[in-house]
Amino acid sequence: MLKGGSARSHHLHVYQRGDPDIARHLAVRDSLRRVAAERDAYGTFQAGTQRLRKCVRWSGPARGRDARPRRYNGGRRYERSLRMWDLTRTVSEDMLMYPGQPSPVLHHFAEAARDGYGLSEYRFWNHVGTHIDGPLHFFAHRPSLHEYPLARFMCPAHVVHAGGAALVGVDLLVAQLGEDCHHRAIVLDTGTHARWNTPEYFGPFPILTEDAAHWLVDRGVTLLALDTPSADPVDTETFPLHRILLGGDCLILENLAYTPELPDVFQLVALPIKVAGSNGDPARVVGLPL
Ligand SMILES: [Zn+2]
Repeated sequence: MLKGGSARSHHLHVYQRGDPDIARHLAVRDSLRRVAAERDAYGTFQAGTQRLRKCVRWSGPARGRDARPRRYNGGRRYERSLRMWDLTRTVSEDMLMYPGQPSPVLHHFAEAARDGYGLSEYRFWNHVGTHIDGPLHFFAHRPSLHEYPLARFMCPAHVVHAGGAALVGVDLLVAQLGEDCHHRAIVLDTGTHARWNTPEYFGPFPILTEDAAHWLVDRGVTLLALDTPSADPVDTETFPLHRILLGGDCLILENLAYTPELPDVFQLVALPIKVAGSNGDPARVVGLPL
């Protein structure tokens, strides 16, 4: 708890879901997002840090007995504001794979118990588990995933709930995001995450209509996260949704380990490993409160 106890707590305001002040908070976030878009990765990181600090607002006096405590976001409040969610699937040899993809091989050729040290060789395709598709997945002469600025992988994300819908159309997106959507990252909760590591995970699962994919690209969405194995059905031969999204420079995050505990608006951190000439890479994906 805070030094000074509850007498001081009325000076604190922690933004939460349903809070009437959330609109003001979102306005701050959106203005920071615009600033971040104009900066390099380092500048964007600074903006993100400020945004987290702005989650706690001090409205008490600047000096005197009731002045702001040094660590005013300390104690229990601090822990709560730093709650985070791991949205990443674990890579293992027994994970069920996208049809046609080989299982990972994790060869531990030296082990600490036997050899005094541990060293391993991992062998898996780059689109394994929770991963990000880059434009080189379907288009030549595009940037490698490793060349993208960090800001593309760390930004506020908005969840769209699409459980029960076979096709996610523009109507559903407009209903949950608004007509003038200007979010950078969208997470599609289709409910498919609950079938992870079962044969049913690979379909049928909800997918976007082509119009809905165009709608996202036209509104400047640059990252679409899916709790499904793919943006297209697994039996597609033409990958139309991949082409619309990646063609419009909207990265696709697949096999997101979505959890219903996630707030509908959160800070997404989805960092792919850094490999030259990459068309897609496994990523460690984390959600943080905004
Ligand atoms: Zn992929």
